[in-house]
Amino acid sequence: MMSRPPLASALERMREDCTDCGACLTNCAFLSQHGTPGTIAARFDFTSPQGRQIAYQCSLCGLCAAVCPEKLDPGALFLDIRRRHVEDGDFESKPYRSILRYESLGGSALFTQYVVPPGCDTVLFPGCTLPGTRPAVTLELYRQLRRIVPSLGIVLACCGKPSHDLGRTAHFQAAFGTIRDRLVEHGVRTVLTACPNCTTIFSQYGQGLTVQTVYQPLHLHGLAKGVAAGASRAVSIHDPCPGRDDVRTQAAVRGIVTGLGHTLVELRHSRRLTMCCGEGGTVGCAAPELSDQWADRRRREADARVLVTCCAGCAGRLNRVTPTVHVLDLLFRPLVAFHRNLPVARAPFTYVNRLLLKRRIKGERLNNA
Ligand code: SF4
Ligand code: SF4
Repeated sequence: MMSRPPLASALERMREDCTDCGACLTNCAFLSQHGTPGTIAARFDFTSPQGRQIAYQCSLCGLCAAVCPEKLDPGALFLDIRRRHVEDGDFESKPYRSILRYESLGGSALFTQYVVPPGCDTVLFPGCTLPGTRPAVTLELYRQLRRIVPSLGIVLACCGKPSHDLGRTAHFQAAFGTIRDRLVEHGVRTVLTACPNCTTIFSQYGQGLTVQTVYQPLHLHGLAKGVAAGASRAVSIHDPCPGRDDVRTQAAVRGIVTGLGHTLVELRHSRRLTMCCGEGGTVGCAAPELSDQWADRRRREADARVLVTCCAGCAGRLNRVTPTVHVLDLLFRPLVAFHRNLPVARAPFTYVNRLLLKRRIKGERLNNA
């Protein structure tokens, strides 16, 4: 992990350099309740466990940094505060029990699977939510990518983003380090990710590995062409906030959608200026009302158009308030993707789906060996 300045200097810099211009505040559900980052840095006592609790209301979405004329990064500061909180032994895990259990099971022997065939230097890493909610789509993704990369392997595991975002640095480093080392030891050089959170984690911490999202090869190889996509629709893209700087994936997702014959209507908050769906930074566990506010902001921008996203987590969160589909649904089950009752599993069935998918992948590899 890159070294960072001590928390006290980061807070001082925020107090001194934030001009209270409000550019971030008007875009952020969290800051609009508490004031500018400069005000928060001055008002709260970050030496006390109670004062630090406010950091758990930040979605770590990065929109503030994208709009700040002073090039400040309040989200990074709030993540630093979380890390200090954990280092000091003050972290209270109770509100995060379900997400930590989700992560822990995702990294357990029961749910993980490494399929790295001989000669394989590239693996698909679909993450947790896509295989859990859309196992058939995940399997089809693997099959289609193997037509492009015949020796493609697949790894079912959790990248550890929840612990990363909660500031549980030691835990995250141990868990993700195991994945990274195992891939490198097996001769893997490239990881194809389907989840923007996994993409961020591999990009930041996956030394020795090249990371690319699956949407780029899918678009490049023209998979959208020839798909019977049904009636053309006017849709808007919800770019996931971890991928706000990933211009290649943003272009690929748009290319897939227009390649299927749909028309794009860009949202005011899109690409680099995209907003959180409400799931970011595990904020839904600490402040569900803020999660609702973010989702409602998105709903209002969507203005009744269907949202398309490349994040299964965003799709699940936003679909609770406005029709939202995953771009892989459009690609691999286009005739039903827009149906309101499209089968998308929820917990606890997501866990069952992941176990069944693990078994199917194992069988498929044996049959094709
Ligand atoms: S945009 Fe930057 S300078 Fe303006 S209030 Fe936010 S953090 Fe402060
Ligand atoms: S990272 Fe997102 S939620 Fe956190 S302060 Fe910045 S804009 Fe607000």
